[in-house]
Amino acid sequence: MKANKVINVLLVDDERANLIAIRAILENPGVNLIYAASGEEALRQALTHDFAVILLDFYLPTIGGLEVAQIIRTRSQTPIIFITASRPEEFPVEEAYSLGAVDYLTKPYNPIVLKSKVNFFIELYKRTEALAASERARYLSELNIKDGRIRLILENAKGYAFIVTDIHGIITEWEGDASAVTGWSADEMIGKSIASIYTDDDRATGYPAIELELAVRNDVAADKRWHIRKDRSLFYADGVLVPLKDTAGQVHGFSKIFRDETSERLANEELRRLAENLAEVDRRKTEFLATLAHELRNPLAPIKNGLRILRLGGDVNAATAKTHEMMERQVNHMVHLVDDLLDISRISGGKIELKKELITIRELVTSAVETSIPHIESGQHKLNINIEDDSLSLYVDSNRIAQVISNLLNNAAKYTRPGGHIELLAFVEANEVVLSVEDNGIGIPAQELCNIFEMFNQVERNMGHAQGGLGIGLTLVRQLVELHGGTIYASSTENVGSKFTVRLPLANVDHLAPAAPAAAVTGSTKALRILIVDDNVDAAHSLRSLLEFGGHTLFVAHDGYEAIKMVQNYRPHVAFMDIGMPGMDGYETASEIRKLDDVSGITLVALTGWGADNDKNRSHAAGFNKHLIKPASLEVIDSLLSSIEPSF
Ligand code: ADP
Repeated sequence: MKANKVINVLLVDDERANLIAIRAILENPGVNLIYAASGEEALRQALTHDFAVILLDFYLPTIGGLEVAQIIRTRSQTPIIFITASRPEEFPVEEAYSLGAVDYLTKPYNPIVLKSKVNFFIELYKRTEALAASERARYLSELNIKDGRIRLILENAKGYAFIVTDIHGIITEWEGDASAVTGWSADEMIGKSIASIYTDDDRATGYPAIELELAVRNDVAADKRWHIRKDRSLFYADGVLVPLKDTAGQVHGFSKIFRDETSERLANEELRRLAENLAEVDRRKTEFLATLAHELRNPLAPIKNGLRILRLGGDVNAATAKTHEMMERQVNHMVHLVDDLLDISRISGGKIELKKELITIRELVTSAVETSIPHIESGQHKLNINIEDDSLSLYVDSNRIAQVISNLLNNAAKYTRPGGHIELLAFVEANEVVLSVEDNGIGIPAQELCNIFEMFNQVERNMGHAQGGLGIGLTLVRQLVELHGGTIYASSTENVGSKFTVRLPLANVDHLAPAAPAAAVTGSTKALRILIVDDNVDAAHSLRSLLEFGGHTLFVAHDGYEAIKMVQNYRPHVAFMDIGMPGMDGYETASEIRKLDDVSGITLVALTGWGADNDKNRSHAAGFNKHLIKPASLEVIDSLLSSIEPSF
């Protein structure tokens, strides 16, 4: 409050003479005594000025004092002192008080009493004024601080746009970076509908009304979409739309706060496209590997068969025996590589199927060691096997887990200097079977350890020992272990040795039926008529030569049409048929053969590079009895032939 503020006191009296008397009594330079000669005048003054106290004559000509007090009281709390000429007992004290009078004085009044009463109210007024002023000042300063803070936030929230609208979505505030983001200034947008920043497509589907409704219903609506700028370009806004409510909870508008995320969004889309491209490249690579492996496999089968024929025919003399052995070793090595490649591409394509059975660790280890023994022996290594308990069993695809163990043994043999030690341990730990293969070989540098399970990863300094590996063995090992729900871990110290630890879930023997014993390889004894159908002439003839050793009668066809004719003419007991043949493929040929009379007893065997489930289902549907994967081993063919009873 300003110190020199004049304080008003109103005197209402129809006798002007009283004014002079009271002015003399109240004499105070800070007080401005305003005079009203009538009730009407008093009311006019009371409406236009602020008074510390009103001295109100009880008897006024037109509107009485009580009535004036009543009207004043409806608008303000200004204290009223009645001055009355009546005798105290005639003054309607109660009524006066009920109208808000604070006191009354009877004429002739004591000037000192009047002065002290008026002064009291002047003082009171001064105090309340001072209080009100400081209260107001505090409130204003708080508002300023808040407003300042809000300003600060709005000005510094770079990239954020703040828009306020009324209940109909008409923009009332356009703050923050709203202009920078959209290109429209506040002047252009205030008074316009918020729909202006929505794309034509969104507007056609009911936006922004849909979003406003959603915000009302849920108290907030996520606001992530492409919007439109003044120049018609698009920007991606990520933010929220919030309904603004009054104290009664009535929605009276909306606040839309968003950030321009156009560049992030575009970068993400680019990343997604890149990832998709990479996935596509990866898919093509896997497909390429699969095709390559198939193509490599086809010529290998006849070579393998050819070598076998030479051996069985006894044509190998002492001079060629070494070359023969070398060729067999190399072919086996290639078959192994190609098989690994195929397995990897099958696993990557999700096409591998595990044929799980209950098997003891002892059996698995025996089979793995059998495969790896040539490597171990050629390195003159000492192999120590320690299996905690011979009854330890796993429920796994036995071929696959034997493959895992033999791969680890092969590596241990390859990467250990001649005369090394290899240790194979198997024991149970926390419901898992732990299988470890440890060598005292050249080891793996620490920085390479984390990469050795990656495809095509080979340790540079170990390359001299790699023996033509491709760096896919450990990738396959890990994938096979993980397919079985297990883990593999490698540890190593350079020039000291390496240890590979595989953990596989222990078989719950109570819940598993033991696997059927493997069919014994009996060797075929019956002489059969056998038809071989393959467009690859070498493959067909090498298989023919191989089977002729069993005393069978062989026929060879190089396409489907020829095959059907031969079936009709020679009524073979069994036909080994390639699937991918030009003209009529194996499926079609098989279904045609199945339509022929008299040969319903023929056993049709698909001999193909494709072994996924759906390939097998297809060959079964076409009428094949068996589905063998090239190159099928002689044992498998043999056992198949011995199971055939020539009934026609
Ligand atoms: P490769 O066909 O090269 O043997 P792997 O995938 O089986 O491929 O192994 C990857 C690499 O890990 C190998 O090239 C070799 O450098 C390293 N490695 C694997 N096993 C051992 C081991 N027991 N001792 C030392 N190095 C090993």
